[in-house]
Amino acid sequence: MIRLDISTLIFFYTLFSAIIILLIWFLFGHKKAGRPIGKDMDYTWKCSVCFHSYIDSKHDEISVCPLCGSYNKKAEVRDLGT
Ligand SMILES: [Zn+2]
Repeated sequence: MIRLDISTLIFFYTLFSAIIILLIWFLFGHKKAGRPIGKDMDYTWKCSVCFHSYIDSKHDEISVCPLCGSYNKKAEVRDLGT
């Protein structure tokens, strides 16, 4: 029989809790950090008139700024981004 006293139980309880929390933290943090920024950058538009940054995933070539209503081309946004 393995003899377990209360201090050993508390030690293992805190040890496994810390491991599980670190594991969840690592997995979720890694997933959030590992999300490709380029994918978000493709949806990110910067208005050439009012310089308002917004996200529009529906349009590829031309998008309408929600703030001033002007049309923005994707090529201009990429030139500004680099
Ligand atoms: Zn605008």
